[in-house]
Amino acid sequence: MSKVAIDLRGKNALITGGTRGIGAAIATLFHDAGANVITTGTSPESIIKLNTENIDSRKSYLTLNLSKQKSVDSFLQELKSFDIIDILINNAGVNLINNNTDTNDADYNFTMDVNVKGPYRLAREISKKMIKNRYGRIVNISSIWSSITRPGRSLYTTSKFAVVGLTKSLAVELGAHNILVNSVGPGFTLTELTRANNTIAELENISSKIPLKRMAQPSEIANIVLFLASDLNTYITGQNIIIDGGYTIV
Ligand code: NAP
Repeated sequence: MSKVAIDLRGKNALITGGTRGIGAAIATLFHDAGANVITTGTSPESIIKLNTENIDSRKSYLTLNLSKQKSVDSFLQELKSFDIIDILINNAGVNLINNNTDTNDADYNFTMDVNVKGPYRLAREISKKMIKNRYGRIVNISSIWSSITRPGRSLYTTSKFAVVGLTKSLAVELGAHNILVNSVGPGFTLTELTRANNTIAELENISSKIPLKRMAQPSEIANIVLFLASDLNTYITGQNIIIDGGYTIV
């Protein structure tokens, strides 16, 4: 029996927000699968340090702050030197928790710029390269809050429902060019941020409400992203795959 493995050798993959959390897990997994990985972070100093220390020709780091239009402009300018980008993972995202009545326009603009406008602009420019190359895989990271909501999540939920709208629209516009577009909606995932935002008692309380009785590891999200971004996925497009240990079904 032959062993089936996902092989990304020769593929150029861009993963936004790859310096930590889910994005870092995706970047590591894609690199392990053989891809040339370009990841981004917001701090120019950290990016210079990462590039200086890096001795791996299949890894590179770029600065990108999706809340600053100038940063997005210069990032898109830098991307012009990459003729081929086969895979785009729109992972970077922010989560401000507040009721609608307690938010302001700055909160709205910040959340929408990072979670929606950024992925929209990146997809627009990168899909032009994919169209020329007649190949592409785009995976947008949404959330369980792209299909359910609760008090305090109005901003985040609004942005993540929009990510699904973007995913479906791109899937129908790009399908004829052999570009498959999906989103992945993680449930509670044990990133540094999740640990920092919750006490141990809160983490245990949330875990008790998940049918699998635990939160996800970032690698469990990355595995599904890898499948969707690979050549093993030939017929799933326009879908929002929820990875939540069953949280949204109870
Ligand atoms: P995280 O640990 O906070 O990491 C966020 C990444 O995005 C970092 O690399 C960060 O770069 C980058 N980033 C932050 N602000 C940015 C901005 N303004 N512009 C560009 N990049 C920025 O996040 P995470 O928990 O792994 O979440 C990753 C994605 O999964 C997000 O879209 C999030 O909404 C979604 N998600 C997460 C969970 C969860 O439980 N963790 C659940 C559902 C969905 P720096 O290191 O430079 O700050």
